Amino acid sequence: MISLNEYIRAAPKCELHVHLEGTIRPATLLQLALRNRVDLPYTTVDELREWFKFTDFHHFIEVYIAITRCLLTSEDFELIVHEYGAELARQNVRYAEITFSPSNHRWINGVNEDVFFTGISRGRKAVLAEFGVEINWVFDLVRNAHPHDEKMDYVTQLAIDGMGDGVVAIGLGGLETGYPPEPFERWFDQALAAGLHSAPHAGELAGPESIWGAIRALKAERLGHGVRAIEDPNLVAYLSEHQIPIEVNPTSNICLGVYDRIGNHPLRRLYEAGEIVTVNSDDPPLFNTTMNQEAQLLTDVFRFGVDQVDEILLNGVRHSFLNAERRNQLEADFIEEMARLRTSLDSGE
Ligand SMILES: [Zn+2]
Repeated sequence: MISLNEYIRAAPKCELHVHLEGTIRPATLLQLALRNRVDLPYTTVDELREWFKFTDFHHFIEVYIAITRCLLTSEDFELIVHEYGAELARQNVRYAEITFSPSNHRWINGVNEDVFFTGISRGRKAVLAEFGVEINWVFDLVRNAHPHDEKMDYVTQLAIDGMGDGVVAIGLGGLETGYPPEPFERWFDQALAAGLHSAPHAGELAGPESIWGAIRALKAERLGHGVRAIEDPNLVAYLSEHQIPIEVNPTSNICLGVYDRIGNHPLRRLYEAGEIVTVNSDDPPLFNTTMNQEAQLLTDVFRFGVDQVDEILLNGVRHSFLNAERRNQLEADFIEEMARLRTSLDSGE
């Protein structure tokens, strides 16, 4: 017999909201810094692990930039995709849509697409071959990036050019406060016209107006975070009526101070209002979490039973940007595997 927590660890999962640069482990960062001769503020894994721990948004950006500065060659990019792929396999995550921020690499380090796209593509293929884990990409526009138009043009074009190599959506990341979605409409229109999906971050550090903007201007098909929809009942009704799912990252929300403690997180209230929720990890080592830990919050904190857990995990497949045939196949695989695992689930849990 297995407990509900063991069931969640063993169950097949999807990860729809995670940033590649935010998956890097402290030991790997150190290895990359040494081989690329990049100075980091600390020189041991323990110190870096401490430094990774979230303190505030300013510090978070500082860590993010340091990570970006350590990624210089195709091999570096391939390595981090491969390591995260191994981690996904360990947690039985079968499919991931991973966000990547091309303009940061191009402008912070002068690393161009020939280098990083070659690296992430090799990593993606290796992860599928070795672990059977599928990865697709969300390339995101960084809201607060300058020079603005040049970077937005660059990322949009790169995302369109990469559609044959796993890019499935255009995203919008960076600083939400002070950078509303509307000015990004033309790049999203361009990406959508080419056949990409729309998955902007909205409703994390800004409120419902940011989500409304993402829906109206960016035609969002899925929302990164989106949790602050809870502040506007009309918005929650709209999202559930139009089946626009939210990618919830509970621990990230606590670390960034969106909610003061996990007991005040609105995930369950959003679910009960009819919203389609998925659960994800965002930047796992930076928030000292994993996909499995986030999924376990569904029972430990949000008090969902096994049927609801299955529903929420299956939402990750049903609302992925896989093509319909592949999505249906993966969903059938998940349902079959869940049914098999259920036979050993301790019903006293
Ligand atoms: Zn994010």
